[in-house]
Amino acid sequence: MELHVIGRSSPYAGPGEATVGYVVAEENTHLILECGSGVIAKYLERYNLADLEGVMISHLHPDHCADLFPLGFAIKHAQMQGLREERVPLLLPPGGIDILNGVLALLGGLGAHYREVFDYEEYGPKDPVILGYWQAHFHRVDHGMNCHGVVIKGAKGQKLGYTGDTKMGPELVEFFQGTDLLLCEATVESEEQGESTGHLTAEQAGKLGAAAEAKELVLTHFLPGVDEDKKKLLASRHFSGQVTIAEADKVYSIG
Ligand SMILES: [Zn+2]
Repeated sequence: MELHVIGRSSPYAGPGEATVGYVVAEENTHLILECGSGVIAKYLERYNLADLEGVMISHLHPDHCADLFPLGFAIKHAQMQGLREERVPLLLPPGGIDILNGVLALLGGLGAHYREVFDYEEYGPKDPVILGYWQAHFHRVDHGMNCHGVVIKGAKGQKLGYTGDTKMGPELVEFFQGTDLLLCEATVESEEQGESTGHLTAEQAGKLGAAAEAKELVLTHFLPGVDEDKKKLLASRHFSGQVTIAEADKVYSIG
C-alpha cells in the first residue's frame, strides 16, 4: 500500500501548490483522501479515473473538499468518454450529504449532475467502510466542526492513520495505536493557538505519534512558506522514529 502526497497546504495553496489531498494506492487501484483546491489537476497528471475506488473527506472546510466540484466534472467527462461507467463512492462525514446538496442547489441546481457521478455515503464511528482493498475506520475528532480521523487498513493488515484536522485529545492515542504510518496535521505554532482553532502543533504531533507507537510520522497541513525544518525538529523531540514533512509528489510505502 502506498501513500502519495498531492498537496499539503492550508488554508490556501501557494504558487504551484495544492491544499490537502492524498492518494492511497495498491497495485492499479486507488482512493483519494481529501480533495482540497488544486488537488484534481495534479491528481490527473498521474492517475486514471477508471481506477478510482472512492473518495474520503474528513470534513467540509474548503481546503479539504473544494476540488470535489471539478472532480465531479472530470468523472462525468470520463463517463462520457467511456472510460468508466459506475459512479464513484464519496464518503462524507455525518450530515455531509445535505450540506453538499444544499451548496450544489445554490450553485445553479447542480445536485442532479453530481448524483450521476458520485455515490454519496456518510460514514460513522462504528462500522468500518470497505472500499476495494481497504477497510476504513473513522473517529470523530475535535475541530469545532464535524471532522473525522481515519485508520485505513490495507490488504495485508498495514495501517495508515490520518488525523484530519483536530486539537489534541486522549482518545487520539487509542484510535491511532499501532499505525504503520501516521499522517498528522501540525498546523499551528502554539498550543494556545491550537486550542482556539482546533489544530495541533508539531510537538503535539510528535507526542501523539510516540504515544500511539506509530512506526513513522508524516507532518502535514501547513500555511504556505512555513518553516518546515523547525516543525520536523520540534516533532522529533518527542518521536524517535522517522519524521518527514509531507511534500507534493512524495510517495510512502506502508507496511
Ligand atoms: Zn479544517
